[in-house]
Amino acid sequence: MPKLAGKVAVVTGASKGIGASIAEHLAAEGASVVVNYASSKSGADAVVNRITAQGGKAVSIQADVSKPEDIARLFAETKAAYGKLDILVNNAGIYEFAPLEAVTPEHFHKQFDLNVLGLLLTTREAVKLIDGVGGSIINISSMVGPMPVENAAVYSATKAAVDAITIALSKELGPKKIRVNSLNPGMVETGGLHAVGFAESNFRKTVESTTPLGRIAQPQDIARAAVFFASDDAGWVTGQTLILAGGQRQ
Ligand code: NAP
Repeated sequence: MPKLAGKVAVVTGASKGIGASIAEHLAAEGASVVVNYASSKSGADAVVNRITAQGGKAVSIQADVSKPEDIARLFAETKAAYGKLDILVNNAGIYEFAPLEAVTPEHFHKQFDLNVLGLLLTTREAVKLIDGVGGSIINISSMVGPMPVENAAVYSATKAAVDAITIALSKELGPKKIRVNSLNPGMVETGGLHAVGFAESNFRKTVESTTPLGRIAQPQDIARAAVFFASDDAGWVTGQTLILAGGQRQ
């Protein structure tokens, strides 16, 4: 019996990278999945096609989850498609690195509006759709939440905020049998990582040389842990922040 048979999951930012892999892994365990995207319709449709080709169920829904009105529509369309919700993966996020002298209100609000406010508002809407049997909220945080890095004060702060939200909401939503956990990856090879120039950088080499398992992560390394947190295997696990970094400690 698949671990997530009969469950419905929304994965934000699932057109590529970590979110796409999580959507595919949840569907492979029997969940019906909403593949959310902001602008990459072709990427999201490709994820849906890969899922349905394997016999799974998925639909793509466009919504910019930094915008409250889009968030409301995302969950209204989820309800129309599947009638309920069991699992929310708050994966959509941006990472902009900048030294202090380059920090601006725009740099701050762009990251906080998506990584923190968007995550809170998607969770608020999701909880309305999760019925009395409970559910699982999985926040894709980062290793830089508990271990902030230079030139990333704002990004690190967004992920520290995510981890605080995870713990606060695990206490608040426990009585509703809704578990809330963070996954905190180290460096993961994704389109986003290539876009910021880290995938072929000395930074990557440094990470690899200081990682006991000797490499950076691939998206499926994170997705397998997401399946665990989503499933009843993690039925007694809430309010946790799990570092997934091959043993790296900055
Ligand atoms: P990515 O390759 O850049 O993909 C980002 C995804 O988020 C895309 O599907 C994108 O959709 C979507 N997205 C961006 N803005 C959005 C918005 N406003 N509304 C809805 N969707 C939006 O990213 P990634 O590397 O997989 O990272 C995913 C998450 O993991 C982020 O929260 C990131 O902070 C975290 N993380 C990443 C790493 C890493 O090394 N890669 C490490 C630790 C944590 P469109 O393509 O449609 O815009």
